[in-house]
Amino acid sequence: MDDLSVDVLINKDNLLPSDYYPKSLIITDNNENNFHNYKNANLKPMVRADIYPYIQRMISDAEKSGIYFIVDSGYRSYFYQKVILEELVKKEGNIAYQKVAKPGSSEHQTGLAIDIAYYKNGVYSDDVKEDDDEAIWLANNSYKYGFILRYPKGKEDITGYQYEPWHFRFVGLDLAKKLYEEGITLEEYEKRKNTFGSR
Ligand SMILES: [Zn+2]
Repeated sequence: MDDLSVDVLINKDNLLPSDYYPKSLIITDNNENNFHNYKNANLKPMVRADIYPYIQRMISDAEKSGIYFIVDSGYRSYFYQKVILEELVKKEGNIAYQKVAKPGSSEHQTGLAIDIAYYKNGVYSDDVKEDDDEAIWLANNSYKYGFILRYPKGKEDITGYQYEPWHFRFVGLDLAKKLYEEGITLEEYEKRKNTFGSR
């Protein structure tokens, strides 16, 4: 299977096959100070190569405004997602299904989604909160780099996921701008497309 179109809708109703992986993965390099302390480049987060320049531009423009964040998680395989979910179910029970995507339903498998974390004053944190400067900057500016806040507050019943101020999804410049300006999710966009038959 070729790499998917950047506007692909992946959720609990639109699953990826277990053997899908993006062909062009690239290792991100903006996380030297990461908590995970990646000594081995192979353990650094990977994203689809075609979106990496947008991420780099977003990070460097953010830094000009005094906003610092890193890519904390990118591509995850179907089987890795399975392990994460199973571990959390063991620890927390059924609530885990609200927090972690089922294998095949995670955008991280496309290589188009990133979770961000902070490295501030020598401290790494992946505890991203709604009113953090970084989260606010990203929510308001990421569309300029082709990204959307994928699971917004107040849209939980539409996306099927809790509000995640750390999770951003690349959809391309035009679509990101459209979704940002209209304040709609990828689910709503897809539904509208199907209803009106536009392309
Ligand atoms: Zn995520």
